[in-house]
Amino acid sequence: MAIINRIGEFHQDMAEWRRDLHEHPELGFEEQRTSAIVAGKLKAFGFDEVHTGIAKTGVVGVLRAGGGSSTIGLRADMDALPISEASGVAHASRTPGKMHACGHDGHTTMLLGAARYLAETRNFDGTVYLIFQPAEEMLGGGRVMLEEGLLDRFPMTRLFGLHNWPGMPVGTFSVRPGPMMAAADRFTLTLQGQGGHGAMPHITRDPLPAAAQIVLALQTIVARNVDPVKQAVVSVTQIHGGDAYNVIPQTALIAGTCRSFAPEVRDLIERRVGAIAHGVALALQIEVDVRYERGYPPTVNSEVETDLAADVAAEVVGDDRVDRATPPVMGAEDFAYMLEQRPGSYIFLGGGRPEAPLHSPQYDFNDEALTIGASYWARLVERLLPAG
Ligand SMILES: [Zn+2]
Ligand SMILES: [Zn+2]
Repeated sequence: MAIINRIGEFHQDMAEWRRDLHEHPELGFEEQRTSAIVAGKLKAFGFDEVHTGIAKTGVVGVLRAGGGSSTIGLRADMDALPISEASGVAHASRTPGKMHACGHDGHTTMLLGAARYLAETRNFDGTVYLIFQPAEEMLGGGRVMLEEGLLDRFPMTRLFGLHNWPGMPVGTFSVRPGPMMAAADRFTLTLQGQGGHGAMPHITRDPLPAAAQIVLALQTIVARNVDPVKQAVVSVTQIHGGDAYNVIPQTALIAGTCRSFAPEVRDLIERRVGAIAHGVALALQIEVDVRYERGYPPTVNSEVETDLAADVAAEVVGDDRVDRATPPVMGAEDFAYMLEQRPGSYIFLGGGRPEAPLHSPQYDFNDEALTIGASYWARLVERLLPAG
């Protein structure tokens, strides 16, 4: 493996930074401590500019070398999740109910490792923007950074992101051109009937049979409406209604998530969720309020940048350890908003811990991947912004 030697030398430092972040997880837009650590290190490394307070806790570090006009943006996320940690590791979360269960502690650390190396060596020609974003999980911190003028203030022409993937062995990468992760939308269906005595259904309008039929009918969207060669998911993840044995409730609630890649599939799902909810409710004499909210767009990798990213990954771990045509994933990622604005690529980095997947209480970022990810970032800069 072609880990950059100098980065290999500070593996122990990186492992310590990562474990410290892991012990002190912060939820989206609350990453005050993390953000202060990031900004402090970038300044200590000698970054030319360090900007804080973008999207509340976001940080951008600017590093220049050689006077050239080429630019690149590298992005890491910093937020943790509302999960109680059960990893059993010595550096487990000290905050009950919060943990780094998605490895954003590792993402932040790898970009800091690359930052230290790049500031030390400046073996490139142009401007590097390192983006440390808040609130990737559900809250769209990346979108807020864009709304606050990220790309106007820091005019980068290409953007790259990375996520650890516990199911892949350490020392591997996978990526694909085109859609890499899905669009994620959510729906909430509120059913309104007429409550009453459980023994006298004829003088009620029971929302529960309607809820049951809607849940089943929603499954026909993917099975019967979406083109079978295209990917989509409709998952009902909540159903609430009633709280007594002998009472027919007045209301019931159904909620869930929809995933897709193609815009026309996304539109179709939204239309069908509404039509099915209204149609079944009408048939069963129930009123329904349909709320459909669009979340993260699909994460779409551009071809040229994805080829470059895969070439750089291959430089670090070897060509046979880079999957350049990995199947897309139905999870979602708010780096998607940045890739809507600039060409770039989002790559998966092997984490080697299939037994503790992302978002599980057993998860812990694998420190063996730190120098691999940091070397990838550093080589990407040196390759795309070659020193004259
Ligand atoms: Zn996550
Ligand atoms: Zn994540």
